[in-house]
Amino acid sequence: MLRFEGVHKTYAEAVALAGVDLEVAEAETTVLIGPSGCGKSTLLRLAAGLIQPERGAVRFEGATLDHHHLRAARLRMGYMIQDGGLFPHLSVRDNVTLMARELHWPTARRKQRLAELAELVHLPERMLDRYPIELSGGQRQRVALMRALMLDPDLLLLDEPLGALDPMIRFELQRELKAIFARLGQTVLLVTHDLAEAVFFGHRLVLLRAGQIVQQGPPRTLLDAPAEDFVAQFVAAQREPQRLLLGLPA
Ligand code: ADP
Ligand code: MG
Repeated sequence: MLRFEGVHKTYAEAVALAGVDLEVAEAETTVLIGPSGCGKSTLLRLAAGLIQPERGAVRFEGATLDHHHLRAARLRMGYMIQDGGLFPHLSVRDNVTLMARELHWPTARRKQRLAELAELVHLPERMLDRYPIELSGGQRQRVALMRALMLDPDLLLLDEPLGALDPMIRFELQRELKAIFARLGQTVLLVTHDLAEAVFFGHRLVLLRAGQIVQQGPPRTLLDAPAEDFVAQFVAAQREPQRLLLGLPA
C-alpha cells in the first residue's frame, strides 16, 4: 500500500533519514519506534506528502507522492499529528467535518458519518458543539481521531496519538483503538516511543536509530532475536525500570 524506497531527508544540517526502505502492508498496523529524534515523525510527514525526500521515493498504491498524485492520495489518508492539532476556533463538529464540507458532501451524509464516528470512539453526542479547549485530553484525542477517520481513509497515519494522556485513559483508548482497527481492517502506520504500546498494536515493528532502520519484523522477533546490541539495549531500557519497580522476575 505504502512504500519508502531509499528515502533520504535532511533539514538544514540535520540528517533526519539516511536511506530508508520500508513497505507498509495492507490491513495491518506497522509501528515506528525508536529514540527521540530518530526520524519517526519525518517518515510520517513524508507519507502524508507534507515534505518531499531529497533522494528516493515514497509511493502510495504504486504512484509516487509528487504534485501530480498528492492531492488524490492525500484524500485517501487520515493523518493525526502528535498533539491532535485541532483548530481551536472550530467546534468539534466543524473540526471533524472540515474536509467533508470542502468536498461538498451533502449535509445528511456529513451528519450520518459524524454520528457513526462519535459512536465508534465513544464520544457523547453533546460534546459535538464544544470547542477543543472545553474537552479533556482524552476527548481531544478522540476528536482528532474522528477527524482523521472522517473520509474513511485507506491509510491511517498516527503520530504518538496517545502520547499526552494519563495512563488509565491511555490504556482504555489503546484497547478501543486496537478493536476499531481490527473491525475496520484498517491499514495503520503508527508512531510511538513506548515499546509496550508498540508491541500491543503492532503486527510489525520498525525500530529506527539516527534515520535508519535497525530492525523490523513481528514484535516477538525484536524481543527474542535482537539484530544488534542497540535493539537489546532499547528493549532493556524500557523493560528494566518497570520490572524493578513492580518486582517482576527477569
Ligand atoms: P522523532 O519523531 O523520531 O523524534 P523527527 O523525525 O521529528 O524525530 O526528527 C528527526 C531529526 O530531524 C531530528 O534530529 C530533528 O531534530 C530534526 N528535525 C525534525 N524536524 C525538523 C525541522 N523542521 N527543522 C530542522 N530539523 C528538524
Ligand atoms: Mg516525533
